[in-house]
Amino acid sequence: MNKLSIRELELKGKRVFVRADFNVPLADGKVADDTRIRATLPTLRLAMERGARVVVASHLGRPKGKPEEKYSLAPVAARLKELLGKPVVFASDCVGEGPVSRSRALKDGDVMLVENVRFHAEEEKNDEKFSKQLAELCDGIFVCDAFGSAHRAHASVVGITHFVKQAAAGLLMEQELKYLGQAMTNPERPFVAILGGAKVSDKIEVIENLMKIANTMLIGGAMAYTFFRAKGYTTGKSLVEEDKVDLALTLLGEARERHCPIVLPVDHVLARGLEEGAQTQITGVEGTPADWMGLDIGPKTIDLFRKEIAGAKTIVWNGPVGMFEKPAFARGTLAIAQAVADATMKGTTSIVGGGDNVAAVEQAGVAEKISHISTGGGASLEFLAGRKLPGVEALTNC
Ligand code: AMP
Repeated sequence: MNKLSIRELELKGKRVFVRADFNVPLADGKVADDTRIRATLPTLRLAMERGARVVVASHLGRPKGKPEEKYSLAPVAARLKELLGKPVVFASDCVGEGPVSRSRALKDGDVMLVENVRFHAEEEKNDEKFSKQLAELCDGIFVCDAFGSAHRAHASVVGITHFVKQAAAGLLMEQELKYLGQAMTNPERPFVAILGGAKVSDKIEVIENLMKIANTMLIGGAMAYTFFRAKGYTTGKSLVEEDKVDLALTLLGEARERHCPIVLPVDHVLARGLEEGAQTQITGVEGTPADWMGLDIGPKTIDLFRKEIAGAKTIVWNGPVGMFEKPAFARGTLAIAQAVADATMKGTTSIVGGGDNVAAVEQAGVAEKISHISTGGGASLEFLAGRKLPGVEALTNC
């Protein structure tokens, strides 16, 4: 886990290639949510203060290997300029003579953002020639701050490292590796994992891996219903992955054997439909009537989960425990957010990941209290599943 850090690099007067994750939502030609841009500011500021000539690259959206106006990083350049409070040069391509000569014109402390790396099909193919071209934008120094892209072996994340002298982690990347790495290798115990969200199938590997490491796993959200079916309960119209029911039963058994019990909800909020004003009721979980669906955990479950959370020393939370986007079904997720924040205030390390959970802790007004909010959705999940991330593996002193 000891990767070279940007803090250890000699940056003065050098062109430094920083791979950021600026894959932000846009609306009306503007950045609609700048969280990801702000997350990389400490790295950029450090590089600028140390006199680097900073060249930043990122992907945005899923253009099909060619330029597409709606995926241009131009709005990001505008927002970055506001956040940094200084000019940001914007290069309309990420490779070739144009951006290379503009990078050579940068002065110490200047910043240039290059256009979306995915405007070239070679990016996702981890193409060698393209990787080399990207490396021409720097003086042998690559810094990766794009934890959210580290599970992808792409040219600007992995390929480029073969053509530089040093490949280091940025401050955000370091932060992610520190918190997630510690939780997965040497967590302070008890370690309680909270998993929710829509599908068991997305998180099978995470469940399998966490049961080897955690002490308790709390499972809520739609995921719980596949487990309920495995236990023989009726689930009405709740979301169930029929083809994963057998697997859910196996996971329950495995978790017991590994002494990492899976704790499921004991009560839940049922609704007749998703429309506003639809009839709701709170019941036990064993017999959901045919035309009702489970959309949130109930008050007894909130208490049960709260107790587990309050006793934890390490908490990893990924996935909402209800359909929290709708106020009628948000109570459970917001209560969990509050409980995780309360535990953190008493010295517990809390790691919250996944876009929905970030929104939930913000909605609950407790984001500031969480020890670490992980910016990378897919990358966090792969990390929790115990996989090696190519973008992290590539960071060594080359
Ligand atoms: P995921 O991307 O797998 O983490 O799933 C997040 C989504 O799961 C959110 O949009 C939630 O609304 C949804 N979700 C959570 N609990 C439920 C539930 N009981 N029924 C339906 N959807 C749910």
